[in-house]
Amino acid sequence: MSDKFSTSLTQHPVLVTGATGYVAGWLIHDLLAMGCTVHACVRNPNDKNKTRYLDEIAAQAPGELHYFKSDLLQEGSYNEAMQGCEVVFHTASPFILEVEDAQRDLLDPAVKGTLNILNSVNNTASVKRVVLTSSVAAIYSDNIDCQDKPHQTLTEAHWNTGSSLSYNPYLFSKVEAEKAAWDVAKKQNRWDMVTINPSLVMGPGVNPFATSDSFALLKQFADGTTKFGMPDAGIGLVDVRDVAKAHIQAAIRSEASGRYIVSGVNAKLMCISDYLQPTYGEDYPLPTSIVPKFLAWLFAPLAGTSRKFIKLNVGYAFTADNSKSIKELGLQYQPLSPAINAMFKQMKDNSLFD
Ligand code: NAP
Repeated sequence: MSDKFSTSLTQHPVLVTGATGYVAGWLIHDLLAMGCTVHACVRNPNDKNKTRYLDEIAAQAPGELHYFKSDLLQEGSYNEAMQGCEVVFHTASPFILEVEDAQRDLLDPAVKGTLNILNSVNNTASVKRVVLTSSVAAIYSDNIDCQDKPHQTLTEAHWNTGSSLSYNPYLFSKVEAEKAAWDVAKKQNRWDMVTINPSLVMGPGVNPFATSDSFALLKQFADGTTKFGMPDAGIGLVDVRDVAKAHIQAAIRSEASGRYIVSGVNAKLMCISDYLQPTYGEDYPLPTSIVPKFLAWLFAPLAGTSRKFIKLNVGYAFTADNSKSIKELGLQYQPLSPAINAMFKQMKDNSLFD
């Protein structure tokens, strides 16, 4: 490993990949508020529908925002944006649970994209630290995976071994990308890498129309998809603003190292409905009951999921240990109910349930 470096993040520009994304939006918001110069990598800098939310923040903040045209699958397309940067935040990766072609739509951008960026990092002498947005998806595949772990709890020591191109391909893309990134990081000692491994990210978006499937998931609580009930499945949830803070702390704390589970609560899918009931229960068909596992299993294909997924997830808790992030990144997790209510309101106000 390199000598531990320290940075205030304001002396040199910082690079953020996937700047138009949901997680990146709050990260850039915070970086601009700190007075940083942000090199924002986007596929189309001329798409005002995607960039205007960041422009509005930049107009009010002490920091500076500069766009660069980059694509994960175009070799070298991050080189120009990386010049002079000490810190690279790599958030870009498709978060889409249903795709036509998992290799093309998930694996390639996640794995080849990460290798493309780290290749530019290797060729850019100024870079000292990479903060990679991974996921708890790189740690586990299904809730049942918690069962055989010490205290039935996931930690940063665990890796997803159950996903594949044909089963949970998004999760597979995240574990493959993170493994590939550590292979590259460990082959040199000029820069170091820290990974942020969030659970399901919730909360309002800087861009309310971000492509993240966090929005698609919440929509299912409003549009009737889940009105007949919710399977009894565990899930981790975290406020998007806590995820942004984790990235920044991972960059500025010289002692930060390795992987960080960033997850506010070990919850159940049904909790999302419980949080929303007091305000939205009368106007939206929020689920109010638990679907028995055998029914969830029977109707899985109709509900757009697999029977294997139901078998390995329903009836099992999700338990992850977030203590490393609290101790080493100083995170103070926000409660999830206000974040989920604010996100629901934002989607309602922007007609995303129509
Ligand atoms: P998002 O809003 O869909 O953001 C994904 C970003 O990746 C977008 O800015 C998108 O750019 C960019 N991107 C996709 N393909 C690209 C390509 N070929 N070249 C360049 N950029 C490309 O999703 P998100 O939820 O913020 O996810 C951000 C990161 O957090 C991902 O690494 C995801 O795996 C991770 N994560 C998310 C969650 C969650 O619950 N949301 C949980 C754990 C981890 P365009 O705007 O051009 O499409």
